[in-house]
Amino acid sequence: MTEIPASLYENDPTYQMAVKQLREAAQLLGLPDEIVEVLRHPERLIQVKIPVRRDNGKIEVYLGWRSQHNSALGPYKGGIRYREDVTPGEVVALSMWMTWKNSLAGIPYGGGKGGVRVNPKLLSQRELEELSRKYFAALARNVGPDVDIPAPDVYTNPQTMAWYFDEYSKIVGYNAWGVVTAKPVELGGLHARTVSTGYGTALTAREAAKRWIGGIEGKTVAIQGFGNVGQYAAKYLKEWGAIVVAVSDRSGGIYDPNGIDVEEAMKVKAETGKVTNYKKGNVKIISNEELLELDVDILIPAATENVITKANADRIKAKVISEGANGPTTPEAEEILHKKGVVIVPDILANAGGVTMSWIEWSHNRMGCWLTDEEALARLDRIMTHNFNRVFDDWQKKFSDYPMRAAAYAIAVDRVVRAMKLRGWI
Ligand code: NAD
Repeated sequence: MTEIPASLYENDPTYQMAVKQLREAAQLLGLPDEIVEVLRHPERLIQVKIPVRRDNGKIEVYLGWRSQHNSALGPYKGGIRYREDVTPGEVVALSMWMTWKNSLAGIPYGGGKGGVRVNPKLLSQRELEELSRKYFAALARNVGPDVDIPAPDVYTNPQTMAWYFDEYSKIVGYNAWGVVTAKPVELGGLHARTVSTGYGTALTAREAAKRWIGGIEGKTVAIQGFGNVGQYAAKYLKEWGAIVVAVSDRSGGIYDPNGIDVEEAMKVKAETGKVTNYKKGNVKIISNEELLELDVDILIPAATENVITKANADRIKAKVISEGANGPTTPEAEEILHKKGVVIVPDILANAGGVTMSWIEWSHNRMGCWLTDEEALARLDRIMTHNFNRVFDDWQKKFSDYPMRAAAYAIAVDRVVRAMKLRGWI
Protein backbone atom coordinates (compact mmCIF):
# COMPACT_ATOMS: atom_id res chain seq x y z
CA MET A 1 0.00 0.00 0.00
CA THR A 2 1.26 3.48 -0.83
CA GLU A 3 -0.38 6.83 -0.22
CA ILE A 4 -0.26 8.92 -3.35
CA PRO A 5 0.16 12.67 -3.89
CA ALA A 6 -2.63 15.11 -4.85
CA SER A 7 -1.02 15.73 -8.25
CA LEU A 8 -2.36 12.32 -9.31
CA TYR A 9 -5.98 13.43 -9.04
CA GLU A 10 -6.08 17.25 -9.09
CA ASN A 11 -6.12 17.62 -12.90
CA ASP A 12 -8.89 15.10 -13.46
CA PRO A 13 -12.05 16.76 -14.94
CA THR A 14 -14.46 14.70 -12.81
CA TYR A 15 -12.51 15.68 -9.69
CA GLN A 16 -12.54 19.33 -10.74
CA MET A 17 -16.32 19.19 -11.18
CA ALA A 18 -16.71 17.77 -7.66
CA VAL A 19 -14.53 20.57 -6.26
CA LYS A 20 -16.58 23.18 -8.14
CA GLN A 21 -19.76 21.85 -6.52
CA LEU A 22 -18.06 21.88 -3.12
CA ARG A 23 -17.02 25.52 -3.63
CA GLU A 24 -20.59 26.50 -4.60
CA ALA A 25 -21.99 24.84 -1.48
CA ALA A 26 -19.32 26.53 0.66
CA GLN A 27 -20.27 29.89 -0.83
CA LEU A 28 -23.95 29.36 0.03
CA LEU A 29 -22.94 28.46 3.57
CA GLY A 30 -20.39 31.27 3.88
CA LEU A 31 -17.58 28.81 4.65
CA PRO A 32 -14.00 30.11 4.45
CA ASP A 33 -11.56 28.82 1.79
CA GLU A 34 -9.48 27.02 4.38
CA ILE A 35 -12.38 24.63 5.06
CA VAL A 36 -12.80 23.98 1.34
CA GLU A 37 -9.07 23.27 1.25
CA VAL A 38 -9.51 20.57 3.91
CA LEU A 39 -12.61 19.05 2.29
CA ARG A 40 -11.36 18.97 -1.27
CA HIS A 41 -8.77 16.30 -0.46
CA PRO A 42 -9.52 12.76 0.69
CA GLU A 43 -8.34 11.85 4.17
CA ARG A 44 -6.50 8.97 2.56
CA LEU A 45 -5.98 7.69 -0.96
CA ILE A 46 -4.64 4.18 -1.15
CA GLN A 47 -3.05 2.67 -4.26
CA VAL A 48 -2.44 -1.05 -4.49
CA LYS A 49 -0.72 -3.34 -6.96
CA ILE A 50 -2.59 -6.57 -7.74
CA PRO A 51 -0.60 -9.35 -9.44
CA VAL A 52 -2.92 -11.94 -11.00
CA ARG A 53 -1.78 -15.30 -12.45
CA ARG A 54 -3.73 -15.43 -15.74
CA ASP A 55 -5.12 -18.71 -17.03
CA ASN A 56 -2.33 -18.72 -19.66
CA GLY A 57 0.24 -19.01 -16.83
CA LYS A 58 1.55 -15.40 -17.05
CA ILE A 59 1.39 -12.81 -14.26
CA GLU A 60 -0.39 -9.56 -15.03
CA VAL A 61 -0.33 -6.62 -12.61
CA TYR A 62 -3.40 -4.42 -12.14
CA LEU A 63 -3.66 -1.12 -10.27
CA GLY A 64 -6.39 -0.42 -7.74
CA TRP A 65 -7.37 2.52 -5.54
CA ARG A 66 -9.55 3.24 -2.54
CA SER A 67 -10.27 6.85 -1.72
CA GLN A 68 -11.39 7.50 1.85
CA HIS A 69 -12.71 11.01 1.59
CA ASN A 70 -14.20 11.89 4.95
CA SER A 71 -15.07 9.99 8.13
CA ALA A 72 -16.46 12.77 10.34
CA LEU A 73 -19.94 11.18 10.32
CA GLY A 74 -18.86 7.53 10.45
CA PRO A 75 -16.94 4.82 8.59
CA TYR A 76 -16.24 5.43 4.90
CA LYS A 77 -18.90 3.94 2.63
CA GLY A 78 -19.11 3.59 -1.13
CA GLY A 79 -18.79 1.16 -4.01
CA ILE A 80 -15.89 -0.39 -5.87
CA ARG A 81 -15.84 -0.36 -9.67
CA TYR A 82 -13.90 -2.46 -12.15
CA ARG A 83 -13.26 -0.57 -15.38
CA GLU A 84 -10.29 -0.34 -17.71
CA ASP A 85 -10.34 3.47 -17.72
CA VAL A 86 -10.75 4.12 -13.96
CA THR A 87 -8.57 7.01 -12.76
CA PRO A 88 -7.57 8.09 -9.24
CA GLY A 89 -9.27 11.44 -9.95
CA GLU A 90 -12.58 9.77 -10.73
CA VAL A 91 -12.31 7.63 -7.60
CA VAL A 92 -11.57 10.65 -5.38
CA ALA A 93 -14.44 12.66 -6.93
CA LEU A 94 -16.88 9.79 -6.43
CA SER A 95 -15.73 9.36 -2.82
CA MET A 96 -16.43 13.06 -2.19
CA TRP A 97 -19.92 12.67 -3.68
CA MET A 98 -20.47 9.70 -1.37
CA THR A 99 -19.61 11.89 1.62
CA TRP A 100 -22.36 14.32 0.61
CA LYS A 101 -24.84 11.60 -0.35
CA ASN A 102 -24.45 9.77 2.96
CA SER A 103 -24.56 13.01 4.92
CA LEU A 104 -27.78 14.03 3.16
CA ALA A 105 -29.28 10.57 3.71
CA GLY A 106 -28.76 11.09 7.45
CA ILE A 107 -26.97 7.74 7.80
CA PRO A 108 -23.89 7.40 10.05
CA TYR A 109 -21.36 7.06 7.24
CA GLY A 110 -18.58 9.04 5.68
CA GLY A 111 -17.67 8.76 2.00
CA GLY A 112 -15.40 6.34 0.16
CA LYS A 113 -15.02 4.84 -3.31
CA GLY A 114 -12.74 2.28 -4.92
CA GLY A 115 -11.71 1.26 -8.39
CA VAL A 116 -9.56 -1.30 -10.15
CA ARG A 117 -8.20 -0.56 -13.62
CA VAL A 118 -9.26 -3.74 -15.39
CA ASN A 119 -11.66 -4.84 -18.11
CA PRO A 120 -13.51 -7.57 -16.19
CA LYS A 121 -14.99 -8.97 -19.42
CA LEU A 122 -11.51 -10.13 -20.42
CA LEU A 123 -10.98 -12.15 -17.20
CA SER A 124 -12.26 -15.64 -16.43
CA GLN A 125 -14.30 -16.18 -13.26
CA ARG A 126 -11.23 -17.69 -11.56
CA GLU A 127 -9.05 -14.71 -12.56
CA LEU A 128 -11.73 -12.29 -11.33
CA GLU A 129 -11.88 -14.10 -8.00
CA GLU A 130 -8.08 -13.93 -7.61
CA LEU A 131 -8.09 -10.22 -8.52
CA SER A 132 -10.92 -9.46 -6.07
CA ARG A 133 -9.40 -11.41 -3.17
CA LYS A 134 -5.94 -9.87 -3.67
CA TYR A 135 -7.32 -6.35 -4.00
CA PHE A 136 -9.29 -6.73 -0.78
CA ALA A 137 -6.41 -8.41 1.06
CA ALA A 138 -4.22 -5.44 0.10
CA LEU A 139 -6.85 -3.10 1.60
CA ALA A 140 -7.52 -5.27 4.66
CA ARG A 141 -5.72 -3.05 7.18
CA ASN A 142 -7.71 -0.03 6.00
CA VAL A 143 -11.23 -1.43 5.73
CA GLY A 144 -13.56 -3.10 8.23
CA PRO A 145 -17.09 -2.87 9.66
CA ASP A 146 -16.14 0.22 11.70
CA VAL A 147 -13.59 1.62 9.26
CA ASP A 148 -14.64 1.41 5.61
CA ILE A 149 -17.53 -0.62 4.17
CA PRO A 150 -17.42 -1.15 0.39
CA ALA A 151 -20.34 -2.20 -1.86
CA PRO A 152 -20.80 -3.03 -5.55
CA ASP A 153 -20.57 -0.46 -8.32
CA VAL A 154 -19.92 -0.75 -12.07
CA TYR A 155 -19.06 -4.40 -12.95
CA THR A 156 -18.94 -5.63 -9.36
CA ASN A 157 -21.84 -7.53 -7.81
CA PRO A 158 -22.95 -9.65 -4.81
CA GLN A 159 -20.48 -12.42 -5.83
CA THR A 160 -17.61 -9.90 -5.67
CA MET A 161 -18.84 -8.88 -2.21
CA ALA A 162 -18.89 -12.55 -1.15
CA TRP A 163 -15.19 -12.86 -2.13
CA TYR A 164 -14.30 -9.62 -0.30
CA PHE A 165 -16.25 -10.73 2.77
CA ASP A 166 -14.59 -14.15 2.80
CA GLU A 167 -11.07 -12.80 2.26
CA TYR A 168 -11.43 -10.23 5.02
CA SER A 169 -13.06 -12.75 7.40
CA LYS A 170 -10.13 -15.15 6.92
CA ILE A 171 -7.64 -12.39 7.72
CA VAL A 172 -9.40 -11.23 10.91
CA GLY A 173 -10.44 -14.74 11.98
CA TYR A 174 -14.21 -14.31 12.32
CA ASN A 175 -17.24 -13.78 10.04
CA ALA A 176 -17.12 -10.01 9.55
CA TRP A 177 -20.65 -9.63 8.10
CA GLY A 178 -20.49 -5.85 8.28
CA VAL A 179 -17.36 -5.34 6.13
CA VAL A 180 -19.28 -5.09 2.85
CA THR A 181 -22.93 -4.60 1.87
CA ALA A 182 -25.16 -5.81 -0.98
CA LYS A 183 -23.93 -9.32 -0.17
CA PRO A 184 -25.75 -12.41 -1.44
CA VAL A 185 -28.83 -13.18 0.68
CA GLU A 186 -27.15 -16.39 1.98
CA LEU A 187 -24.39 -14.21 3.50
CA GLY A 188 -26.58 -11.66 5.26
CA GLY A 189 -27.64 -9.57 2.26
CA LEU A 190 -31.21 -8.43 1.62
CA HIS A 191 -33.44 -9.33 -1.35
CA ALA A 192 -34.78 -5.79 -1.07
CA ARG A 193 -31.37 -4.39 -2.09
CA THR A 194 -32.21 -5.15 -5.74
CA VAL A 195 -35.24 -2.87 -5.75
CA SER A 196 -33.94 -0.25 -3.31
CA THR A 197 -32.52 2.42 -5.65
CA GLY A 198 -35.59 2.41 -7.94
CA TYR A 199 -37.86 2.27 -4.90
CA GLY A 200 -36.07 5.31 -3.44
CA THR A 201 -36.31 7.24 -6.71
CA ALA A 202 -40.04 6.47 -6.79
CA LEU A 203 -40.37 7.56 -3.15
CA THR A 204 -38.75 10.94 -3.78
CA ALA A 205 -40.94 11.43 -6.89
CA ARG A 206 -44.02 10.57 -4.80
CA GLU A 207 -43.06 13.00 -2.04
CA ALA A 208 -42.16 15.77 -4.53
CA ALA A 209 -45.53 15.23 -6.24
CA LYS A 210 -47.29 15.66 -2.87
CA ARG A 211 -45.48 18.91 -2.18
CA TRP A 212 -45.54 20.39 -5.70
CA ILE A 213 -48.40 19.07 -7.85
CA GLY A 214 -51.05 17.87 -5.40
CA GLY A 215 -50.13 14.19 -4.98
CA ILE A 216 -49.13 11.13 -6.98
CA GLU A 217 -52.57 9.61 -7.61
CA GLY A 218 -53.45 9.82 -11.35
CA LYS A 219 -50.27 11.70 -12.31
CA THR A 220 -48.51 10.74 -15.56
CA VAL A 221 -44.91 9.53 -15.55
CA ALA A 222 -42.22 9.01 -18.22
CA ILE A 223 -39.08 7.03 -17.38
CA GLN A 224 -35.90 7.03 -19.45
CA GLY A 225 -33.86 3.87 -18.84
CA PHE A 226 -35.59 0.59 -18.07
CA GLY A 227 -32.85 -1.19 -16.13
CA ASN A 228 -32.53 -1.83 -12.41
CA VAL A 229 -33.49 1.70 -11.35
CA GLY A 230 -36.08 2.50 -14.03
CA GLN A 231 -38.01 -0.76 -13.77
CA TYR A 232 -38.52 -0.62 -10.01
CA ALA A 233 -39.27 3.11 -10.06
CA ALA A 234 -42.00 2.32 -12.63
CA LYS A 235 -43.34 -0.63 -10.64
CA TYR A 236 -43.74 1.28 -7.37
CA LEU A 237 -45.06 4.52 -8.88
CA LYS A 238 -47.74 2.48 -10.62
CA GLU A 239 -48.57 0.72 -7.35
CA TRP A 240 -49.04 4.12 -5.71
CA GLY A 241 -51.58 5.23 -8.33
CA ALA A 242 -49.47 7.03 -10.94
CA ILE A 243 -49.93 6.27 -14.66
CA VAL A 244 -46.64 5.25 -16.28
CA VAL A 245 -47.20 6.36 -19.87
CA ALA A 246 -43.68 5.90 -21.32
CA VAL A 247 -40.48 3.96 -20.66
CA SER A 248 -37.36 3.45 -22.76
CA ASP A 249 -34.03 1.69 -23.06
CA ARG A 250 -31.18 1.87 -25.57
CA SER A 251 -33.49 0.41 -28.25
CA GLY A 252 -35.92 3.36 -27.95
CA GLY A 253 -39.13 4.12 -26.06
CA ILE A 254 -42.75 3.00 -25.81
CA TYR A 255 -45.60 5.42 -25.20
CA ASP A 256 -49.25 4.79 -24.38
CA PRO A 257 -51.21 7.75 -22.98
CA ASN A 258 -53.55 5.26 -21.24
CA GLY A 259 -50.64 3.72 -19.35
CA ILE A 260 -48.11 0.95 -19.88
CA ASP A 261 -48.55 -2.45 -18.20
CA VAL A 262 -45.30 -2.25 -16.21
CA GLU A 263 -45.19 -5.95 -15.24
CA GLU A 264 -45.65 -6.91 -18.90
CA ALA A 265 -42.94 -4.43 -20.00
CA MET A 266 -40.55 -5.93 -17.40
CA LYS A 267 -41.33 -9.41 -18.73
CA VAL A 268 -40.71 -8.31 -22.34
CA LYS A 269 -37.44 -6.63 -21.33
CA ALA A 270 -36.26 -9.74 -19.43
CA GLU A 271 -37.20 -12.12 -22.25
CA THR A 272 -36.10 -10.13 -25.33
CA GLY A 273 -33.66 -7.53 -23.96
CA LYS A 274 -35.61 -4.69 -25.62
CA VAL A 275 -38.56 -2.84 -24.13
CA THR A 276 -39.58 -1.79 -27.66
CA ASN A 277 -40.82 -5.37 -28.24
CA TYR A 278 -43.78 -4.54 -25.94
CA LYS A 279 -46.95 -4.71 -28.06
CA LYS A 280 -49.93 -4.22 -25.71
CA GLY A 281 -52.67 -1.58 -26.13
CA ASN A 282 -52.20 1.42 -28.43
CA VAL A 283 -48.49 1.63 -27.79
CA LYS A 284 -46.41 3.87 -30.01
CA ILE A 285 -42.64 3.66 -30.50
CA ILE A 286 -40.86 6.93 -29.68
CA SER A 287 -37.23 8.04 -29.42
CA ASN A 288 -35.40 8.66 -26.15
CA GLU A 289 -35.35 12.38 -26.99
CA GLU A 290 -39.14 12.44 -27.53
CA LEU A 291 -39.69 10.66 -24.22
CA LEU A 292 -37.98 13.47 -22.31
CA GLU A 293 -40.26 16.07 -23.91
CA LEU A 294 -43.61 14.29 -23.40
CA ASP A 295 -46.45 16.17 -21.79
CA VAL A 296 -46.25 14.36 -18.43
CA ASP A 297 -46.35 15.41 -14.78
CA ILE A 298 -43.24 13.51 -13.67
CA LEU A 299 -40.04 12.66 -15.52
CA ILE A 300 -37.53 10.10 -14.26
CA PRO A 301 -34.18 10.02 -16.04
CA ALA A 302 -32.81 6.62 -15.02
CA ALA A 303 -30.37 5.80 -17.82
CA THR A 304 -27.26 7.91 -18.06
CA GLU A 305 -25.71 11.35 -17.52
CA ASN A 306 -26.21 14.67 -19.42
CA VAL A 307 -29.51 13.88 -21.17
CA ILE A 308 -31.34 17.04 -20.04
CA THR A 309 -29.33 19.90 -21.52
CA LYS A 310 -29.80 23.52 -22.53
CA ALA A 311 -30.78 22.19 -25.98
CA ASN A 312 -33.97 20.47 -24.74
CA ALA A 313 -34.68 22.05 -21.31
CA ASP A 314 -37.13 24.58 -22.76
CA ARG A 315 -39.23 21.80 -24.28
CA ILE A 316 -39.49 19.70 -21.10
CA LYS A 317 -43.05 19.78 -19.77
CA ALA A 318 -42.81 17.74 -16.55
CA LYS A 319 -43.21 19.69 -13.30
CA VAL A 320 -41.29 17.17 -11.21
CA ILE A 321 -38.04 15.44 -12.17
CA SER A 322 -36.55 12.76 -9.92
CA GLU A 323 -32.98 11.89 -10.91
CA GLY A 324 -32.56 8.10 -10.74
CA ALA A 325 -29.41 8.29 -12.86
CA ASN A 326 -26.27 10.10 -11.75
CA GLY A 327 -25.85 13.54 -13.33
CA PRO A 328 -28.65 13.44 -15.96
CA THR A 329 -29.20 17.23 -15.88
CA THR A 330 -26.52 19.73 -16.91
CA PRO A 331 -26.13 22.91 -14.76
CA GLU A 332 -27.39 25.13 -17.65
CA ALA A 333 -30.51 22.99 -18.08
CA GLU A 334 -31.12 23.02 -14.34
CA GLU A 335 -31.08 26.81 -14.31
CA ILE A 336 -33.64 26.97 -17.15
CA LEU A 337 -35.93 24.41 -15.47
CA HIS A 338 -35.65 26.08 -12.06
CA LYS A 339 -36.82 29.35 -13.61
CA LYS A 340 -39.75 27.48 -15.19
CA GLY A 341 -40.79 26.26 -11.72
CA VAL A 342 -39.75 22.63 -12.17
CA VAL A 343 -38.63 20.74 -9.06
CA ILE A 344 -35.59 18.59 -9.74
CA VAL A 345 -34.96 16.11 -6.95
CA PRO A 346 -31.16 15.84 -7.26
CA ASP A 347 -29.40 12.51 -7.75
CA ILE A 348 -27.69 12.62 -4.35
CA LEU A 349 -31.15 12.54 -2.77
CA ALA A 350 -33.23 10.67 -5.38
CA ASN A 351 -30.90 7.70 -5.90
CA ALA A 352 -29.77 7.26 -2.28
CA GLY A 353 -32.08 4.26 -1.79
CA GLY A 354 -29.27 1.79 -2.48
CA VAL A 355 -26.83 3.16 0.06
CA THR A 356 -29.59 3.65 2.62
CA MET A 357 -30.60 0.00 2.19
CA SER A 358 -26.91 -0.88 2.61
CA TRP A 359 -26.99 0.86 5.98
CA ILE A 360 -30.11 -1.15 6.94
CA GLU A 361 -28.28 -4.38 5.93
CA TRP A 362 -25.11 -3.41 7.81
CA SER A 363 -26.86 -2.37 11.02
CA HIS A 364 -28.85 -5.63 11.13
CA ASN A 365 -25.80 -7.75 10.33
CA ARG A 366 -24.08 -6.13 13.28
CA MET A 367 -26.99 -6.85 15.61
CA GLY A 368 -27.04 -10.43 14.39
CA CYS A 369 -30.62 -10.26 13.12
CA TRP A 370 -32.02 -10.60 9.61
CA LEU A 371 -34.92 -8.53 8.20
CA THR A 372 -37.79 -9.48 5.91
CA ASP A 373 -38.18 -7.56 2.63
CA GLU A 374 -41.34 -5.87 3.91
CA GLU A 375 -39.57 -4.65 7.05
CA ALA A 376 -36.55 -3.43 5.07
CA LEU A 377 -38.67 -1.53 2.50
CA ALA A 378 -40.89 -0.02 5.21
CA ARG A 379 -37.75 1.32 6.91
CA LEU A 380 -36.40 2.68 3.64
CA ASP A 381 -39.74 4.40 3.03
CA ARG A 382 -39.69 6.04 6.49
CA ILE A 383 -36.08 7.21 6.16
CA MET A 384 -36.28 8.56 2.60
CA THR A 385 -39.67 10.21 3.08
CA HIS A 386 -38.31 11.98 6.15
CA ASN A 387 -35.09 12.98 4.35
CA PHE A 388 -36.87 14.31 1.28
CA ASN A 389 -39.20 16.48 3.34
CA ARG A 390 -36.38 17.77 5.55
CA VAL A 391 -34.38 18.84 2.48
CA PHE A 392 -37.46 20.24 0.74
CA ASP A 393 -38.38 22.36 3.80
CA ASP A 394 -34.82 23.66 4.24
CA TRP A 395 -34.64 24.46 0.52
CA GLN A 396 -37.89 26.41 0.65
CA LYS A 397 -36.93 28.22 3.86
CA LYS A 398 -33.30 29.11 3.19
CA PHE A 399 -32.25 28.54 -0.41
CA SER A 400 -35.35 28.83 -2.62
CA ASP A 401 -33.60 31.20 -5.06
CA TYR A 402 -31.49 28.25 -6.11
CA PRO A 403 -32.35 24.82 -7.55
CA MET A 404 -32.99 22.10 -4.97
CA ARG A 405 -29.59 20.56 -5.76
CA ALA A 406 -27.75 23.61 -4.41
CA ALA A 407 -29.74 23.33 -1.19
CA ALA A 408 -29.07 19.60 -0.97
CA TYR A 409 -25.30 20.11 -1.31
CA ALA A 410 -25.32 22.94 1.21
CA ILE A 411 -27.23 20.82 3.77
CA ALA A 412 -24.92 17.86 3.18
CA VAL A 413 -21.68 19.85 3.44
CA ASP A 414 -22.96 21.73 6.49
CA ARG A 415 -23.64 18.48 8.39
CA VAL A 416 -20.10 17.23 7.70
CA VAL A 417 -18.50 20.54 8.66
CA ARG A 418 -20.49 20.70 11.90
CA ALA A 419 -19.36 17.16 12.79
CA MET A 420 -15.74 18.07 12.04
CA LYS A 421 -15.99 21.18 14.24
CA LEU A 422 -17.58 19.26 17.12
CA ARG A 423 -14.83 16.66 16.90
CA GLY A 424 -12.21 19.41 17.00
CA TRP A 425 -10.80 18.59 13.56
CA ILE A 426 -11.14 22.14 12.27
P1 NAD B 1 -28.84 -0.67 -15.79
O1 NAD B 1 -27.66 -0.99 -16.63
O2 NAD B 1 -29.56 -1.74 -15.06
O3 NAD B 1 -29.96 0.06 -16.71
C1 NAD B 1 -29.68 1.16 -17.51
C2 NAD B 1 -30.83 1.34 -18.51
O4 NAD B 1 -30.63 2.52 -19.25
C3 NAD B 1 -30.95 0.22 -19.53
O5 NAD B 1 -32.32 -0.02 -19.77
C4 NAD B 1 -30.27 0.80 -20.78
O6 NAD B 1 -30.76 0.22 -21.98
C5 NAD B 1 -30.67 2.24 -20.63
N1 NAD B 1 -29.76 3.17 -21.33
C6 NAD B 1 -28.42 3.24 -21.23
N2 NAD B 1 -27.95 4.24 -21.99
C7 NAD B 1 -29.03 4.81 -22.54
C8 NAD B 1 -29.20 5.90 -23.41
N3 NAD B 1 -28.14 6.59 -23.87
N4 NAD B 1 -30.47 6.23 -23.76
C9 NAD B 1 -31.52 5.53 -23.28
N5 NAD B 1 -31.42 4.49 -22.46
C10 NAD B 1 -30.19 4.14 -22.11
O7 NAD B 1 -28.37 0.49 -14.81
P2 NAD B 1 -29.06 0.97 -13.45
O8 NAD B 1 -28.44 0.23 -12.32
O9 NAD B 1 -30.53 1.00 -13.61
O10 NAD B 1 -28.49 2.46 -13.35
C11 NAD B 1 -29.06 3.53 -14.09
C12 NAD B 1 -28.48 4.82 -13.59
O11 NAD B 1 -28.70 4.96 -12.20
C13 NAD B 1 -26.96 5.01 -13.77
O12 NAD B 1 -26.72 6.38 -14.00
C14 NAD B 1 -26.41 4.63 -12.42
O13 NAD B 1 -25.16 5.23 -12.16
C15 NAD B 1 -27.48 5.19 -11.51
N6 NAD B 1 -27.51 4.58 -10.16
C16 NAD B 1 -27.80 3.27 -10.01
C17 NAD B 1 -27.82 2.73 -8.73
C18 NAD B 1 -28.18 1.29 -8.50
O14 NAD B 1 -28.21 0.87 -7.32
N7 NAD B 1 -28.51 0.50 -9.52
C19 NAD B 1 -27.53 3.53 -7.61
C20 NAD B 1 -27.26 4.89 -7.81
C21 NAD B 1 -27.25 5.40 -9.10
